[in-house]
Amino acid sequence: MNPSPLQAPLSKSHRLVYEIVQEQGIGRHLAMADLFSLAQSRQPRIGFTTVYRAVTKLRDLGLISEITPHGAERAYYEPAGPAHAHFRCDRCGDVQDVDFAIPATVTTALAAQIGGAIANATVHFRGRCAECSRLEDSA
Ligand SMILES: [Zn+2]
Ligand SMILES: [Zn+2]
Repeated sequence: MNPSPLQAPLSKSHRLVYEIVQEQGIGRHLAMADLFSLAQSRQPRIGFTTVYRAVTKLRDLGLISEITPHGAERAYYEPAGPAHAHFRCDRCGDVQDVDFAIPATVTTALAAQIGGAIANATVHFRGRCAECSRLEDSA
């Protein structure tokens, strides 16, 4: 059973932020400042704190995902969706989705090692993106 997120009792500002993240779609990663300016472009009088609180609430409800890649100074937000890893370019800071999830067998084995339960795992990669690798090669 997977209740539709929009049936949750969301306030108007929560709904607005949720829609903005959904509309960006999978593969896009928005910083808080991006979310704020997008929210403001639709609702000019919305305050930063309102957007901030909405983002935090939506994250806590599991309706949007928060990621903080290695080396990034800020968190990014994306639609909650299938598990995947992230890659961040050291040179340009671009954050990309990587089609990778830790196999369930691995988490089960690790949980046994810990003697507890693993609720969540996050994988981040860093290095050079294709564009930056090209620029470096031609330099
Ligand atoms: Zn790059
Ligand atoms: Zn992602």
